Amino acid sequence: MSPLSCKKCCSQSYVKSGHIRSHQRYKCKECGCQFTATKPRGVNPALKSFAVVLYSHCGVSMGNLSKLFKVSTVAVLKWIRNAAAQLEDKPIKKPDIIMVDEFWHFVNGKTKFGCGEPLTGYSVPLSDTAWAIVLMPACEN
Ligand SMILES: [Zn+2]
Repeated sequence: MSPLSCKKCCSQSYVKSGHIRSHQRYKCKECGCQFTATKPRGVNPALKSFAVVLYSHCGVSMGNLSKLFKVSTVAVLKWIRNAAAQLEDKPIKKPDIIMVDEFWHFVNGKTKFGCGEPLTGYSVPLSDTAWAIVLMPACEN
């Protein structure tokens, strides 16, 4: 189990601050946020990042993403706006480009999906420990 940290700023500097609904409450020394050691609410941040990748690199609409992740379209819009706001602060890193050739899926010995053409892949970091590859048809150059 990971050590307890502030749910707002992820600081591990906190003090006990009473109880709420029979849970120990803590107060962050950095930002003053009060929190409990309960499971974080909402969609997993890695899935949010994956939704942003699908929207920005694969052209999946916000409506389809809201159906896929079972959230409102407004929630998907907020994920994308938050990701864009974080990008404004960082220099844009050029994606790592890989070439994939003869990419086929076989199910029960039969070809289900694939492509014999070279594909260009962009590795996109989703979090510190997860990443995704977005494959597209290779460019001429
Ligand atoms: Zn904090």
